[in-house]
Amino acid sequence: MRYLLGLLGHPLDHSLSPVMHRAALRALGLEGDYRRLDTPSEQLAARVEEVRTLYHGVNVTVPHKEAILPWLDELDPAAAAIGAVNTVVNDGGRLVGHNTDAPGFLRALAEAGVRGEVALLLGAGGAARAIAFALKEAGWEVWIHNRTRTRALALAEAFGLRVVDPARAREADLVVNATSVGLDDPDATPIDPCHLPRGGAVVDIIYGVGETRLLRAARARGLPAFDGLGMLLWQGLLAFELWTGRKVPVEAVRRALLQAVHRGGNEG
Ligand code: NAP
Repeated sequence: MRYLLGLLGHPLDHSLSPVMHRAALRALGLEGDYRRLDTPSEQLAARVEEVRTLYHGVNVTVPHKEAILPWLDELDPAAAAIGAVNTVVNDGGRLVGHNTDAPGFLRALAEAGVRGEVALLLGAGGAARAIAFALKEAGWEVWIHNRTRTRALALAEAFGLRVVDPARAREADLVVNATSVGLDDPDATPIDPCHLPRGGAVVDIIYGVGETRLLRAARARGLPAFDGLGMLLWQGLLAFELWTGRKVPVEAVRRALLQAVHRGGNEG
């Protein structure tokens, strides 16, 4: 069996997914490839048909995580609840959509040893939606703050969250930055660091840009603080397991990912 896998999105220049999935194929001694399928929106329909005929599965990223839904034959219940797909499995021509961002976030959290009851989620975009779903499934009480309040209210209504002022971060056991603030400018921060909790953990799901100001401030206060590489790793491992049915040697993939980050680039 030769696995043909890929990543569907636009643009894809900086994606680390090819590094991870090629490392997983190598580590398991499987034949195959993971290709970048750069797909502007107007080519999405044709690309989905190409996937249906040629690929075992694909990841889906910006801007297609929601746009791809109408083209799929079936949705896993979590993907349906989240309303976004980051992984498609080709089951003999039937395309089934999954969302591994949500369980990937929880696996990263568990690996980091983060526990608690109340989480403050910053952001109300696609990633925040998956994380809100995941945290609620895991039994957290979730508070949310977003620049555009109406989007926070919509997410709150969908998943049973509470919209709060960012200063409430002080009372949370966990603060998650799921906004893109810090991505282009690591010195920008989604909340004033003076609001960070005294004893909670901080996760900034941004990755590959060095330490964001939020993480720097958290570490300076002695708080456990984690970037988005853990989530990236685990959403990828879970997708790979869905495509191949094989358990991936986690450390081999983690090593490849960290090496790529340190090189400041990617492969293929
Ligand atoms: P998105 O759907 O475009 O959402 C962006 C979010 O950021 C929105 O809540 C938006 O608020 C907020 N935002 C943007 N600029 C802002 C500003 N200047 N001030 C305050 N808030 C601002 O993006 P996404 O797909 O959810 O991705 C969000 C971040 O997560 C990105 O940095 C992405 O790289 C990262 N991510 C990481 C992983 C991982 O595996 N680690 C996975 C997915 C995404 P408004 O609603 O007000 O516009």
